[in-house]
Amino acid sequence: MVPKKVDVFVWRAGRERLPVLVELDKRGVDLDSVLCPLCGEFVETVDHALFSCKLVRVIWEKILAWWGIASTKVNFDSLQGAVSSLNCSGAGIKIWQGLVWISMYLIWKNRNQMVFKKSSWSPPVAVNDIQVKSFEWIAMRNKLKKSSDMIGSTTLMRVFCWKIGLLREAKHPFVPSMSPLADH
Ligand SMILES: [Zn+2]
Repeated sequence: MVPKKVDVFVWRAGRERLPVLVELDKRGVDLDSVLCPLCGEFVETVDHALFSCKLVRVIWEKILAWWGIASTKVNFDSLQGAVSSLNCSGAGIKIWQGLVWISMYLIWKNRNQMVFKKSSWSPPVAVNDIQVKSFEWIAMRNKLKKSSDMIGSTTLMRVFCWKIGLLREAKHPFVPSMSPLADH
């Protein structure tokens, strides 16, 4: 469902194997501070960096709102299960879960951009990036590979395109690739 790099990232995150400041500190790296580089208020653990930082929660809230999901606790299990509040098909559930994984991956990339390249933290930009990449990585990928042993790829595309309506409104360049949907 998602690229290998995302898969590996989530596996590492689940085992606290990301170089967040607390982990670097445990390994004896000399740091000025172990406080979150985003908010500067709490120690940077994996959970804080990916979910509980107030600057990260803004992104999750936007993603939940995008899918029309009522606010939920922002942690891995709650987010994974959040789709159950929608009357979603199996394909929709798979897409949502893939989206949660991709969002974690891209939130971490954004964090690194901020830390190492001093770029600013912009939830709207991050969310747009998540929408574009998740479309590319989930919908396009699954459509092209036709690896639909459990879900029809056209169903998957349709569910995703419905959810990606925001991109359509923004006249995003990915729009033309959605046209094959019309004949199903
Ligand atoms: Zn923080």
